[in-house]
Amino acid sequence: MSDKRIALVTGASRGIGAAVAKRLAADGYFVVVNYNGSAQRAQEVVTQIVAAGNDAVALQCDVSDFDACGELIARITADYGRLDVLVNNAGITRDGLLMRMSEADFDAVIDTNLKGAFHTIRHAGRQFLKQRSGRIINIASVSGLLGNAGQANYAASKAGVIGLTKSVARELASRQITVNAVAPGFIATDMVDAMTDSAKAAVTDHIPFGRIGEPEEVADVVAFLASDAARYVTGQIIAVDGGMSIGC
Ligand code: NAP
Repeated sequence: MSDKRIALVTGASRGIGAAVAKRLAADGYFVVVNYNGSAQRAQEVVTQIVAAGNDAVALQCDVSDFDACGELIARITADYGRLDVLVNNAGITRDGLLMRMSEADFDAVIDTNLKGAFHTIRHAGRQFLKQRSGRIINIASVSGLLGNAGQANYAASKAGVIGLTKSVARELASRQITVNAVAPGFIATDMVDAMTDSAKAAVTDHIPFGRIGEPEEVADVVAFLASDAARYVTGQIIAVDGGMSIGC
């Protein structure tokens, strides 16, 4: 049990998820740092949070597995008695032009990015309804707003996350549960590090701010949506993209 509010951040072993976990821990949450394969990196995130005087635990779960998500949520509510914030951040890319994209690469991205969010919301929703409170924050992408050549699977998954966010927001609003999404542009993480320098330069040309964003700049907006200041905000998609999606 913990006397703190409890936050679950999926895919928090690195990148944006790790920044969100650290920020929510600094804001006073007991944070569950979820990971899939990177046990050591997840433990490093927990160690950093604890060293800063805050509380966290690392728990493995593949979000593409419906039953495993059920077990994760059941363990959190059994161990800590409640769940206050769910951040659906876990995500993957399997980029390629559509005419060369395999069905396996399409399915893998949908299963993690879109179905993963459905799985956790489906299981955590019961707890939120019981509590008559809860915050769900989904990490979408500007690719889901604008589309992106070479990312048909990823853009479809993120557009799906946006539809999921707005629909669930309508369903849970009467119980004062908010459901919002953050749509990052290009953020400096492993996902973007994998790009070539010329590809990064081409992308930067399309960012009005003229630079790639930092994970902490996404975490700041997630922290706002989790906070009491956002209690009357639901069904919204907030782009954190240095202006990339202006005009869409
Ligand atoms: P990243 O550095 O590649 O990290 C991805 C995280 O997701 C890792 O912690 C990874 O855990 C976890 N993950 C992947 N598959 C999982 C699964 N099946 N179950 C549980 N966890 C899983 O990615 P990122 O750049 O921080 O991206 C985080 C989120 O922001 C994603 O949803 C991404 O689509 C979105 N986003 C990123 C950008 C960007 O520019 N970086 C832009 C727009 C949107 P393991 O290491 O343990 O596998």
